[in-house]
Amino acid sequence: MVDYDDVIVGGGSAGIALATRLTENSSRRVLLIEAGPDPHGVVDDDRLGDQMRFSSTLTHWGIDATFMPGSALNYPQGRRTGGGSAVNGAFAVRGIRDDYDRWAAAAGDEWSWPHMLRVLCRLESDQDFGGDSHGTSGPVPIVRWRRDELLPMQQAFLAAVNAKGIPWMDDMNAPDASGIGAIPMNRQNGLRMSTALTYLPLARDRENLTIWPGIEVTRVILAQGRATGVEFVRDGQVERVQGARIILSAGALQSPSLLMRSGIGPSGHLAEMGIECRVALSGVGENLMDHQGTAVFLVPREGLAPTDDRVCQLGARYSSSSGLAVDDMWLSMWSSWELAEFPDMQAALGVPAISAVIAGVHDPLSRGTVRLRSSDPSVRPAVDFAMLSHPDDMSRLVEGLQVAMELASSSEMASLYRGIGLLDVASINDRDVLEAYIKSTVGGWYHATGTCRMGSDPDAGAVVDGHLRVFGVDGLHVVDASVMPTVVRAPTNMTSIAIGERAAELLG
Ligand SMILES: Cc1cc2nc3c(=O)[nH]c(=O)nc-3n(C[C@H](O)[C@H](O)[C@H](O)COP(=O)(O)OP(=O)(O)OC[C@H]3O[C@@H](n4cnc5c(N)ncnc54)[C@H](O)[C@@H]3O)c2cc1C
Repeated sequence: MVDYDDVIVGGGSAGIALATRLTENSSRRVLLIEAGPDPHGVVDDDRLGDQMRFSSTLTHWGIDATFMPGSALNYPQGRRTGGGSAVNGAFAVRGIRDDYDRWAAAAGDEWSWPHMLRVLCRLESDQDFGGDSHGTSGPVPIVRWRRDELLPMQQAFLAAVNAKGIPWMDDMNAPDASGIGAIPMNRQNGLRMSTALTYLPLARDRENLTIWPGIEVTRVILAQGRATGVEFVRDGQVERVQGARIILSAGALQSPSLLMRSGIGPSGHLAEMGIECRVALSGVGENLMDHQGTAVFLVPREGLAPTDDRVCQLGARYSSSSGLAVDDMWLSMWSSWELAEFPDMQAALGVPAISAVIAGVHDPLSRGTVRLRSSDPSVRPAVDFAMLSHPDDMSRLVEGLQVAMELASSSEMASLYRGIGLLDVASINDRDVLEAYIKSTVGGWYHATGTCRMGSDPDAGAVVDGHLRVFGVDGLHVVDASVMPTVVRAPTNMTSIAIGERAAELLG
């Protein structure tokens, strides 16, 4: 007799959505294990209550990531019920139809647009749009700034983007939406509405859901080709709990780490770590992606910085000239960006906060890795995004930076700021200067994905199949952002929650 039908490791965006849906069946006994605290829906930390400031200090995992060779920066990941959704920027943007159709081509029709649209609708309660492509009664409230609520800086950005031929779009979450529009947000009364505040209250009191906060799982227990439970340390003692199904929802950096520590992964790497290889799966920890961005930093004129949380109201999806994919690029405008956590930049620019025109590649071709540094679970993994390692990403980011420079120096925007920091717009056609600038400023947007990717062929790097079953192990699933074969052309939270919703349908 097992302890639980389902043991879910990680109560973040996907894990909580999955636990909530699975426990609608009162006969399923589900255990949700979360490494961080469970504040029971109470917003107990100012920074969690402030939608636009990332809680990168109190809730991070102590993981440094390499973007470019030689650099290592803190890469925050949520560590509490809600996971990333409890600490993120609350941009609630869906991927576009083509993102999910790519997944279907890689992993099967289970992930095609009609299925994903259904779950994207089910998760939301859109306050602005209804009809066939929106949900109005799901757990997550979605709102957008109205045109008359745009700050002068954002209005000027909009006018400059329009002047470049990128049109206004009413609804960024409409299928195939392209252009510039208000960024949908999962917020209510100034709070980011995480899965801990939206889904978990629906399930918390169910007798068939048990939540263990403050427990960090160290590995999956395997016996005769099957996952039978997980191991963790409590009060200094190694303990185990059994489950008929073990589901890893620990996020794109921790789920592959857990698999590798359990002996599931690239055999050579496991041997280097002194871990017995139980199932050789070359794709575990490969295919790491994030969006890759740079920015033109502006020193704003007095009185133009926002006094409230209208920091980033607009975003633009558009296509690069590369012809590689539609809407492969993103632009946005940060009205104010506090530099307290970036002392080097603060020293270089001499101001406590700046504005920024952000440019990024939303459909990257570069791929990085998550690797163990040690078999000791307290040693955090090595995370290398290998940004710009694909030449087409550098070319597209150069082009994106040129667009951002043109916007910043346009007549619509020029009156907003006192100067441009770190970059001379006269260099706009000097590719060497732009590449050097990009190499020193490129960063990810905390959208780590892809490290346990779904697909049909484990020999070609797939880790889970279209039903999210780990190849070569019975009773083991991965359900989180790590299963995305390609990162969506959008921030990743809505899609991660949708993966939890879809997994509940597929796992039953
Ligand atoms: C600072 C920041 C800003 C972001 N901004 C946005 C945004 O504005 N919009 C957007 O769409 N996306 C944003 N994202 C990305 C988005 O939040 C993530 O893609 C999404 O939350 C991933 O969901 P997940 O379920 O895969 O993992 P997570 O939500 O990270 O959940 C994983 C959970 O597992 C737990 N866990 C990990 N390992 C263990 C273990 N060994 N034992 C027990 N528990 C464990 C973690 O504590 C965590 O709670 C942001 C992310 C961050 C970190």
